[in-house]
Amino acid sequence: MNRMLVLGTEIDRISFSEAIELALNSTAHRRGDYLVTPNTEIVLRADRSPELREAIRGAALSLPDSIGVEIACRILGTPIAERIPGIDFASALFGRMAERRQSVFLLGAEEGVAARAAAALLARFPGIGIAGTENGYFDRSIEEDIVGRINSASPDLLLVCLGSPKQELWMHRNAPRLRVGLMAGLGGALDVFSGDVPRAPESWRKIGFEWLYRLLREPKRAKRAVKLPLIVFAAIRKRIKGEREIWQRES
Ligand code: UDP
Repeated sequence: MNRMLVLGTEIDRISFSEAIELALNSTAHRRGDYLVTPNTEIVLRADRSPELREAIRGAALSLPDSIGVEIACRILGTPIAERIPGIDFASALFGRMAERRQSVFLLGAEEGVAARAAAALLARFPGIGIAGTENGYFDRSIEEDIVGRINSASPDLLLVCLGSPKQELWMHRNAPRLRVGLMAGLGGALDVFSGDVPRAPESWRKIGFEWLYRLLREPKRAKRAVKLPLIVFAAIRKRIKGEREIWQRES
């Protein structure tokens, strides 16, 4: 698998199906693997934050989740294989895990959301095991307890849905002491799986306009959305300077 540098953020050139196989492989071990899904906002934030860049660098898988990242990669001359939206990826992974009777622990979102998401996942993917749920608004002082609960459940997959950069930093910091198969930082995924937040219609998703749908539903996201063209300008600047980085990674 190839890994590329997009304004300091490492992103994998990998197909959807290859990524699923690698993720499944991780769920079978307990070696602290984690997955990140950088979107435009995360890439822009990482450009200014060495700590976030480091956390992303430590990920076993870094999946391009947004149209902005896809365009930036094309401008940089290192196109991605395909866009991999986190929700679609998690859904496909749950399907495969259900066949193998594997388990998932859901961490994140407001009180009650993870439990509702768990019920919905059980109905949609019979065979999946729910190893536990926990809301994402815990105090740092009880992090030990949460890690202890997760470790006693030892899930094959841990969804870490705390928003960015909290989730990437959390996974990076706790990976060495967590006894879980794969961790996946998936932002607002639990709100979607629980049914609290609807997904954009497929026709919007296909052309990469999920972000616009979310913006129209939640206008308070406007402050975040206006930053999106910045990734394109930044990529053009790098391209003009001739900066282009891509390398082969062990997978
Ligand atoms: N969240 C959380 N703990 C926090 C901050 C946020 O669990 O301290 C949750 C929040 O409730 C939401 C998710 O993290 O479910 C972030 O969602 P958002 O849509 O902002 O994330 P994105 O997918 O855009 O990164």
